[in-house]
Amino acid sequence: MNIDKHAPIEWRFSRRAQKLESSAIREILKVTMRPEIISFAGGLPSPETFPVDHLRAAYDKVLTTQGKVALQYGPSDGYAPLREWVAASLSKEGARIVPEQVLMVSGSQQALDLLGKVLIDEGSKVLVETPSYLGALQAFSVYGPQFESLPTDDGGLLPESIAEIGQGARLLYALPNFQNPTGRTLSVERRHALVEACARLRVPLIEDDPYGALCYRGEPLPKLLGMNPEGVIHMGSFSKVLTPGIRLGYLVGPQPLIRKLEQAKQAADLHTAQITQMVVYEAVKDGFLDGHIPTIRKLYADQCQVMLSALEEFFPAGTRWTRPEGGMFIWVRLPEHIDSMKLLDEAVAELVAFVPGAPFYANDPQHNTLRLSFVTVPPEKIREGVAKLAKLIAAKL
Ligand code: PMP
Repeated sequence: MNIDKHAPIEWRFSRRAQKLESSAIREILKVTMRPEIISFAGGLPSPETFPVDHLRAAYDKVLTTQGKVALQYGPSDGYAPLREWVAASLSKEGARIVPEQVLMVSGSQQALDLLGKVLIDEGSKVLVETPSYLGALQAFSVYGPQFESLPTDDGGLLPESIAEIGQGARLLYALPNFQNPTGRTLSVERRHALVEACARLRVPLIEDDPYGALCYRGEPLPKLLGMNPEGVIHMGSFSKVLTPGIRLGYLVGPQPLIRKLEQAKQAADLHTAQITQMVVYEAVKDGFLDGHIPTIRKLYADQCQVMLSALEEFFPAGTRWTRPEGGMFIWVRLPEHIDSMKLLDEAVAELVAFVPGAPFYANDPQHNTLRLSFVTVPPEKIREGVAKLAKLIAAKL
């Protein structure tokens, strides 16, 4: 048989794959990786906070003392001592959580995919904040949901909207702490109201909380999980308190759901790397994070303050922005006629970058919004970058 090896294949992608789009942020990041660009675009934690020596010692200890176990396949639900550690840490904050309620995942981004897989059918109603985390919209979209965007204000989600909009929803996806992308925080009163509204409608409430520990002042606010362990699914991550490169997160929820998620996890990747989980357990088991997290909080609080001061000094009248109490992001609202996607082209020409706000909306994008990340840019560069952006905006007024 004569085969033309050079004839290109016309790829027929599945209907599911056709729903996949490249994340706007990842595309932008490619451009903004250039070292000469002052980039407020990435959602990357500051590498200054990565405990390299501590992790090296943990790897060394694990490989020396338990190398054969660390390099073997492991259980799909995760490394038992680490699941116990997660359960014990969360139990300190309210509800009694048992290790059987914990599923270790390969970054909390995997948790979003698994949740989509087991909870969303084509056309299912899925409630999200306005705006919401782009990576969640992207992960859920593959499963074909009907997104309903819940109204929000400067204090985040408005729980009273749920009674009407939430009827028949398959899940509500919430980010109560220092939300990505807005930096907003939900008050304790609203947390209770949100949990109650979901419980009343029997709608599973997903609490995505990678930034909760990174509050600049005082103690973290109570988790939704503790307010109703039977109805809340909590997502945690080591990415922002240790390092994102290890790709380790966890899902905590009612056991019947966790068992179903475990099956989905098994089908996806069998389990999260055993060595990673053992090293992280070794690294955190003796209280390392209690000393480490305050150093991250201090760095991010200082960086945030530099950006807020620069915005105050340089940004023209008619622009508004959030004042986060933790986390990594500030959200800016420009006058209505300014499209931040177009502004980005001009900004990149001036060697500054940010993320346009539109992709964070599941419905009705607001094109005059943008997200600024302040944690990886040195203070003098923050001022320079904000001043350049301000000039571009002022020229449009
Ligand atoms: N949720 C939110 C809100 C995030 O900001 C991120 C990271 N940008 C993730 C989930 C995914 O984090 P990871 O997979 O690194 O745990």
